[in-house]
Amino acid sequence: MAAKAAEAVLDVAEAVVEQAAEAVKEAVTPIITPQDAKIPEGPLELKWTNYKNHQKLVNPANKRRLDVIVVGTGLAGASAAASLAEMGFNVLNFCIQDSPRRAHSIAAQGGINAAKNYQNDGDSVYRLYYDTIKGGDYRAREANVYRLAEVSNSIIDQCVAQGVPFAREYGGLLDNRSFGGAQVSRTFYAKGQTGQQLLLGAYSALSRQIGKGKVKMYTRYEMLDIVLIADENGEKRARGIIARNLVTGRIERFFAHAVVVGSGGYGNTFFLSTNAMASNGSAAMQMYRHGALFANPCYAQIHPTCIPKHGDFQSKLTLMSESLRNDGRIWVPKKLEDAKRLQAGEIKGRDIPEEDRDYYLERRYPAFGNLVPRDVASRAAKERCDKGYGVNNTGLAVFLDFSDAIQRLGKDVVAQKYGNLFQMYEKIVDEDPYENPMMIFPAIHYTMGGIWVDYELQTTVKGLFCIGEANFSDHGANRLGASALMQGLADGYFVLPYTIQNYLSDQIGVPRMSTDLPEFAAAEKAVQDKIDRLMAIQGKRSVDSIHKELGLVMWDFVGMGRTAEGLKEGIKKIDAIKKEFWTNVYIPGDANHLNNELEKALRLADFIEIGRLMAVDALHREESCGGHFREEFQTPEGEALRQDDKFSYVGCWKYMGEDKEPMLVKEPLDYEFTERKTRNYKN
Ligand SMILES: Cc1cc2nc3c(=O)[nH]c(=O)nc-3n(C[C@H](O)[C@H](O)[C@H](O)COP(=O)(O)OP(=O)(O)OC[C@H]3O[C@@H](n4cnc5c(N)ncnc54)[C@H](O)[C@@H]3O)c2cc1C
Repeated sequence: MAAKAAEAVLDVAEAVVEQAAEAVKEAVTPIITPQDAKIPEGPLELKWTNYKNHQKLVNPANKRRLDVIVVGTGLAGASAAASLAEMGFNVLNFCIQDSPRRAHSIAAQGGINAAKNYQNDGDSVYRLYYDTIKGGDYRAREANVYRLAEVSNSIIDQCVAQGVPFAREYGGLLDNRSFGGAQVSRTFYAKGQTGQQLLLGAYSALSRQIGKGKVKMYTRYEMLDIVLIADENGEKRARGIIARNLVTGRIERFFAHAVVVGSGGYGNTFFLSTNAMASNGSAAMQMYRHGALFANPCYAQIHPTCIPKHGDFQSKLTLMSESLRNDGRIWVPKKLEDAKRLQAGEIKGRDIPEEDRDYYLERRYPAFGNLVPRDVASRAAKERCDKGYGVNNTGLAVFLDFSDAIQRLGKDVVAQKYGNLFQMYEKIVDEDPYENPMMIFPAIHYTMGGIWVDYELQTTVKGLFCIGEANFSDHGANRLGASALMQGLADGYFVLPYTIQNYLSDQIGVPRMSTDLPEFAAAEKAVQDKIDRLMAIQGKRSVDSIHKELGLVMWDFVGMGRTAEGLKEGIKKIDAIKKEFWTNVYIPGDANHLNNELEKALRLADFIEIGRLMAVDALHREESCGGHFREEFQTPEGEALRQDDKFSYVGCWKYMGEDKEPMLVKEPLDYEFTERKTRNYKN
């Protein structure tokens, strides 16, 4: 009896201690207010107009005296660099590739959203806003998303004026197709090469400014650090970068009055992803280490329609565009024995009769069918495969079938719409997708998390801006298809050109600074020391072998289904990988020439840190929302279960030093204009 009473007292004491610890944690968690985020006053639909009416401008004569560094030539970077130069600023533009037009954006296939309502199917700016907020599982900032929807139409006008060859209907109007998470057709496209065509448009605008001398282009340069210099009040401001000439190996210094980073997403943390091989998270980590907050790192998108992995020696996964879900139907066999025969290669998909096919998305989500958002479609595929209904020799694939569409529209029409994607599939899989359904499986594709920016796209470091996929801004916990291109171009063509002036208007009296200043010298030395340290390891493992190991840990423990236990285990494994990397990596050659292995090693060092940050963030977010699925938080039907009362905030992480745990900072998302609901794609 006495023992029981003592136990009860202990339980109470423990609970009190836990509560107190929670309270202390709450009390010390810094909060970002709407004022900190510079969200303009007024009704939702007038916020951007109000901002533009009152923001400070820089007059043409002063623009000529100001230099801006833009890192990146993807859709975000190229559009920003071209626009800022067109306005009169002097721009220094950097990219890793040998030409700006080889940025990862060129890979984008399916299309770009805008609320033009050309189809007269009920679209509007508000509806695009609403779909985006809902698609992101109510974890994005209302004001930003509304602005994105508002400028979407101007993007299309701008790109048409540049000559981007969007697909057209017979009558001459631009054609549209549907993407996931929407019941209207609002996606503008150029066959399956929309990113390429949009990037060529931005590149033309950029080239014009390179020709005029307003943009100085640095290809094959990689930024390795950002230089901060304190102003007269002691406030540190971004004043330049340290970059490595990838051809000569030389480390160089560059000054500017402001630095804009459009360096893309960090999906390659997983090693295998649909991202370009050079896509990386290093620029983001450089900003983070200088005090910029990293927001929602755990929000990563797993795309449902990728060509399945086919071996251990693969370094890249290929996306089959979401546009294919307009006409393709997704299914697996209804009977386990059929699945087994398919896995054994005894039959093909086309051998399964209609009545034995389970069109599971149409069955589970009648209202949206095959066009449910990506997170929902990916989880549904995983659920079927986990239950044994998957196809391919691994059992880790589902079918994407065009037989209905071919019957309804004819092979020619299907080829006109998706021909290059079908050809790509056939080249990789060696099977004709017109004859037999394609096989697809989810893969890492996009990162919604990124560097925290305020409404002006400025980070918490003054003069340091972040745009495109590299920032965290507009997609909440899940990005809808065709919205990344929209955001990148909105940031570069229409948002930053206004907001950066508000900052630069106070910088007109700041003279160009010498790159001999001690801050530049110190930053260069730190970069050189890091390179020397890496080159000196001379261990036994290739960069890729360690990266592959990290990727497997990420997929298994920080992937599509996450648990507290798995995440804790994942963090331990990532820590061990970090140790292995810093003691046993082997980089051949030397640092004073072209050295791909060194480039990859520098990026992997940061991927390891990002992977850990993703796991830490995923562990703290005890809810399921969008692409972040914690298995402990799901409805009885297996749908994501949000905890709005506890997690309705942007989870930002502040760097506290090497090998120290980061500090959580919250930006509450108090929805003023939109009612938060459970996402429903069923009816
Ligand atoms: C296969 C595929 C298909 C897609 N299809 C679509 C689609 O149909 N619609 C859609 O909306 N979205 C799509 N997306 C997503 C979309 O393509 C990307 O989110 C978008 O292009 C990112 O653009 P960005 O300008 O932010 O970055 P990126 O295009 O990734 O450009 C990054 C730039 O930064 C440079 N860079 C990076 N680090 C450094 C450094 N340290 N120093 C110097 N330069 C650096 C790179 O060289 C590059 O120029 C797709 C993505 C993939 C992978």
